[in-house]
Amino acid sequence: MKIVFFSAQPYDKEFFKRLQGNASVELIFHEASLTEKTASFLEPADAVCVFVNDQVTARVCEMLAARGIGIIALRCAGFNNVDLEAARKNGLRVCRVPAYSPEAVAEHALALIMTLNRKTHKAYNRVREQNFSLNGLLGFNLHGRSIGVIGTGNIGTAFCKIMLGLGCRVKAFDLIANKDLEAMGVTYHPLMEILQTDIISLHCPLNEQTRHLINAETISMMKKGVMLINTSRGGLIETSSVIQGLKSGQIAYLGIDVYEQEEHLFFKDLSDTVIQDDEIQRLMSFSNVLITAHQAFFTEDAITQITTTTLNNIDQLLKSGNLTNRAALLV
Ligand code: NAD
Repeated sequence: MKIVFFSAQPYDKEFFKRLQGNASVELIFHEASLTEKTASFLEPADAVCVFVNDQVTARVCEMLAARGIGIIALRCAGFNNVDLEAARKNGLRVCRVPAYSPEAVAEHALALIMTLNRKTHKAYNRVREQNFSLNGLLGFNLHGRSIGVIGTGNIGTAFCKIMLGLGCRVKAFDLIANKDLEAMGVTYHPLMEILQTDIISLHCPLNEQTRHLINAETISMMKKGVMLINTSRGGLIETSSVIQGLKSGQIAYLGIDVYEQEEHLFFKDLSDTVIQDDEIQRLMSFSNVLITAHQAFFTEDAITQITTTTLNNIDQLLKSGNLTNRAALLV
């Protein structure tokens, strides 16, 4: 079995090599992302293994099929970057890791909230410079605050439980209500009401219905001084509108682990280059904006689960053409 990896980072190599178990598996790692250009250099293989910013377009699907590659294995949950219809047409099987430690992402959402609120990042730097003043570090209690959760799937559910544990009033919006969460005290409401909560956290997938869910209109419906958290996908937020919301004070805190144009930036060390993206530069200039570079999933536990599930998905698809974990099979 031969698997070609794109967007491979040192930790991908480390975990896949360590956990592959089977010496007959050949793993080829490319740091470059999968695009029409890089697909043209692809060697014949059984599967490609891709991540969040690889562009698996209709043309790429045709190119994979022409090289005898039968499987696209996503080593992530989201699949908005894969043209599933084109994959189907070209006879490609597509699998993903539907649930891997949803707590990893939910806990990172909490980390963004805690940091923005209690300003520990500023306090850390201040104390190191022997500045023990508290001015400018005022936060608020999370206990009793209203939290709006958009999308209560695996990650949204884990996040709701954390916030309930902190004594927050958790309100949710999803296409389907989760009865277990309701029994725990989460209440479901129309989106309009979620926009009126103190902290809004996005946990729905990116698709045609959710693209730019956060735009000028929905921001204008938010409570003035809202905290907005996005650990899901950058495209859920219209960046230019959020910048306006920050400038006007409508949004008082923004915590993002994902960014609409992140494929040009994230997972790379660009410290020696001139960043051409003016919107990220503007976002980075606000003192009430916290950006992390798509690291919410990045825990030892989650990477172990991602690696074992991905290897298992590919193994099962090659052996039987099917998966026991139905949620992992997209096409
Ligand atoms: P999931 O499929 O378990 O849950 C998604 C939920 O969103 C479902 O309950 C679904 O009904 C709901 N939903 C779908 N469309 C909606 C809409 N229009 N409005 C409201 N709710 C809607 O997915 P998950 O595992 O919880 O992951 C959620 C997202 O988190 C993924 O799509 C992925 O993009 C993102 N993610 C980010 C990271 C990271 O490291 N930052 C890691 C993993 C996943």
